[in-house]
Amino acid sequence: MKPCTQCGKCCIKYSVDGIFASQSDLDFWEEHRPHIYQHVKNDKLWFDPKTSRQLSICPFLNNTKHNIYTCDIYHDRPEDCKHYPVTIDQMIGDECEMLEPIDIKNTKRAQIKLDILMMDSRPAHP
Ligand code: SF4
Ligand code: SF4
Repeated sequence: MKPCTQCGKCCIKYSVDGIFASQSDLDFWEEHRPHIYQHVKNDKLWFDPKTSRQLSICPFLNNTKHNIYTCDIYHDRPEDCKHYPVTIDQMIGDECEMLEPIDIKNTKRAQIKLDILMMDSRPAHP
C-alpha cells in the first residue's frame, strides 16, 4: 500500500451524487463555514449558489499544480471524504493509485493494512 498520490480520481468520480455530508458536517458548515454551506442544497452536495444547479465537480477540488489535486477544505471536508478509501474492492474499482500489485493479490491483508492507515479517520471496515 503506497501513500495517496493525489491523483484526484476519487474526488472526480464521487463529486456528483457520490459524496454525502453527515448532519454534524452540515451543522458545522451552516454555523461556521458559510463558504462551504452555500454549496449545499436540501442537505445535498455540491451546488452552484448562484444558479442552484448541481455542479459536475466538487468546487473545492484544486488542480493548480499539474496533475496534483488538493482539497481546499481539507480539514473541514465531508465525513465521506475523510473515510475514503474504505475497501480494497472500492479502490480496485476506482483505480486508486495507493494500491500495489501485492495488495491486489492478497486483498484481505491489504484491507488490514488500509484500516491501520486510516485508523485516525474512520473505524475499521467490518
Ligand atoms: S471536499 Fe475535498 S476531498 Fe471531498 S471531493 Fe471535494 S476536493 Fe475531494
Ligand atoms: S484515487 Fe487513491 S491515490 Fe488517487 S487521490 Fe484518491 S485516494 Fe489518493
